[in-house]
Amino acid sequence: MQPNRSGVFGTCCVDLKAAMADVPESTFRVEKENGVFYLVVGYMLTEDGPAFYDQAVLFCPFCGTSLQTKEGVAARTN
Ligand SMILES: [Zn+2]
Repeated sequence: MQPNRSGVFGTCCVDLKAAMADVPESTFRVEKENGVFYLVVGYMLTEDGPAFYDQAVLFCPFCGTSLQTKEGVAARTN
């Protein structure tokens, strides 16, 4: 477990762990301020550079494990 980078996220399966830790510029991220786990789902180019769109991940996309709930994310982002 690497609490500095992924917290508890990435411990459910080797695929998510690798996607978070082994891939350069991984689009999974854990927000430092609230601990919410996000995945970048798209981006657009702006005059100031790229702007990223991310979405909170509720279930692991590889093994289906529940990682966080909508209610928990809402409580931590209000
Ligand atoms: Zn998983």
